[in-house]
Amino acid sequence: MERDFLLKDLNEAQREAVSAPRGNMLIIAGAGTGKTRVLVSRIAWLTGIEQISPRNILAMTFTNKAAAEMRDRVGAIMAGTDMRAMWVSTFHSACLRIMRQHVRRCGLSPDFTVIDTAGQKQLVKRIEQDLKISTTDFKPAQVASGISRLKEQGRRSDKISDIKYKDEFSLVVQKIYPVYELTCERENIVDFSEIILRTVETLRRDEELRGLLNRHFTEILVDEFQDTSPLQYELLELMRGPQGHVWAVGDDDQSIYGWRGADYRNMENFLKDFPDVHKVALTRNYRSGQYILDTANALIDNNSKRLVDKHLMSNTGKGERVTIVQQSNQTFEANYVVMSIKQLLNKGVSPSEIAILYRNNSLSQTIEGELASNGIRYTVYGGLKFFERAEINDAAAYLTVLFNPKNDTALLRIINTPSRKIGPKVVTQLRSIARERKCSVYEALKLAVEYGSKKESPAVLKTLARKVSGVFDLIETVKSDIESFDSLHECVDYVINKTGLMDYYKLKDEKEGRGKLDNQRQENLGELVNIAANFEETHPDEAAKPMNEALLEFLSSVALAASTELTENGNGNSPEEAVNLMTIHASKGLEFRDVFVIGFENGILPSPYAEKQISQDEERRLAYVAITRARKHLWLTFCSRRMVYGRTDPTGPSPFLHEIISSFSGIKPAKRPFEVFL
Ligand code: ATP
Ligand code: MG
Repeated sequence: MERDFLLKDLNEAQREAVSAPRGNMLIIAGAGTGKTRVLVSRIAWLTGIEQISPRNILAMTFTNKAAAEMRDRVGAIMAGTDMRAMWVSTFHSACLRIMRQHVRRCGLSPDFTVIDTAGQKQLVKRIEQDLKISTTDFKPAQVASGISRLKEQGRRSDKISDIKYKDEFSLVVQKIYPVYELTCERENIVDFSEIILRTVETLRRDEELRGLLNRHFTEILVDEFQDTSPLQYELLELMRGPQGHVWAVGDDDQSIYGWRGADYRNMENFLKDFPDVHKVALTRNYRSGQYILDTANALIDNNSKRLVDKHLMSNTGKGERVTIVQQSNQTFEANYVVMSIKQLLNKGVSPSEIAILYRNNSLSQTIEGELASNGIRYTVYGGLKFFERAEINDAAAYLTVLFNPKNDTALLRIINTPSRKIGPKVVTQLRSIARERKCSVYEALKLAVEYGSKKESPAVLKTLARKVSGVFDLIETVKSDIESFDSLHECVDYVINKTGLMDYYKLKDEKEGRGKLDNQRQENLGELVNIAANFEETHPDEAAKPMNEALLEFLSSVALAASTELTENGNGNSPEEAVNLMTIHASKGLEFRDVFVIGFENGILPSPYAEKQISQDEERRLAYVAITRARKHLWLTFCSRRMVYGRTDPTGPSPFLHEIISSFSGIKPAKRPFEVFL
């Protein structure tokens, strides 16, 4: 591999970052300055020039999509080198993989399963019901995220007594948390935040494992470092051995996950905590024209606590002026955006080069309707969450029960789906057997069937056995059948059909009539089979494992794929010919030729829920992320009135827009970086 080849298209600072001697390194640089690009080149440099084996490299990025792209890009530069042994993934997938490989050391049994937010919600709901806590006053979703926040702060349920918050909601969370923890333990399940927390806890105490990983990963690279949480930061400290290095890139101005525990000050700490950190700043922006960057600079200058004052300078000239547009309501706004998109398409711009960004998912609806009625294809990322659909959750629950029968949540979900005349009374009976015997509901089911078939058994038990023997036999049959399968997607297909799930939803679809929204449950189940087939292609090693392990890997991977990365139909890749719709959060790190940020509006951006000054700054960073996604043309639109939850409220421009406009108030309109249409 030639040095010149690897450095040829890079500027001086980028070259320095790519070719620096092995060591700890931090690159703090603004949006579009080539951080991700440099990270990819650095990996190629390490393998090609420094002769580091790909197996000693761990690269962590923010999304699975970004990880896949990174792997492809390194693969393209390093054609011929086998990159399979290199770990390129998100923090969560990397930790999950460590947990699977060292499952006993992590205090888990090998068949543990991962639950996603929907599963977590169900679990909390069940606990609330058991504890007689109102599920309407204390919404399971909110309680579940309260628990996640505590875990993200590294707090176990026995470490919450010093928590200051004593309001009613926090007290409920604190009451449910220990039960939740015990239930997860018993049912052999882990949630998202558990993945990071448990790995960190294990590494803290297990010196041997730490040594093993330290020797394994001598070079750790991190993209989007500003969004790491203190726990993730500690993970990096634990994973880096005496001979190892962490090479990180980030932009404090783009830190947008503070609400989920991220802390951009990790970048400052990094300089103190890691030895001999080499610092590089990248200053040229290669993505956008100067007009877009001036708009971005004007906005972010209003944030006071910035680590580094960065002023984005374009490498490509002034470019096109930013278009700021007011419309009277969201229908007109949608109409305006779609008309503008039509003009772009007529000019030959590819739809996949166009993005519509918004602060909240709920803003996409009107625009979706308008796009559809104009026959423009579009893809919504993380809109209707595929893996939160009932039918998909049912299928996942069946698959889970097959190899983790201890998972009561999964079993109770499908015990009567499709309907088997197993009512709440039967479920209560089973659960009380489980409680008495201190066993799982599945074991209770087994006991009921075994003893209930005996002549001398009491009548209640016999009746119970009669009611549940069907479902028990079914699960046992499917379990033994799938052992002979060697293709993952065929196995998924088989399970969906054999359990009657497919027929059940087919009938439901037909009954409710086509054309109704959300009436494609059959297709969705079919899509799950496609996703399994896709998994076989992208994860050949995992898919080649024995079927139960392969299924476990598959299920974990689907549970992990953050909702933001998935399109409405569960597909992680955007189709070539579709306009992209996503939240600003989901757009981080991406770029598009033309970007429309809709609802740049008072009451929306900043979010009214972000009242504190700190969160105001974070909202401003969010707006900054949105603005800096555009390569060629940027539109910021807002309405004077907007219908929210059936009420029409006067809105008007976002205060951020005032900040932008007022910073150019002394300058003639023709010289400003934007044009305003009111
Ligand atoms: P963000 O902060 O949004 O994640 P980033 O700093 O990671 O941005 P990249 O996505 O790596 O920036 O790069 C932005 C764009 O600039 C990409 O299209 C990239 O290919 C291009 N680019 C970066 N460096 C150069 C260069 N030296 N020459 C030409 N194009 C470049
Ligand atoms: Mg990037």
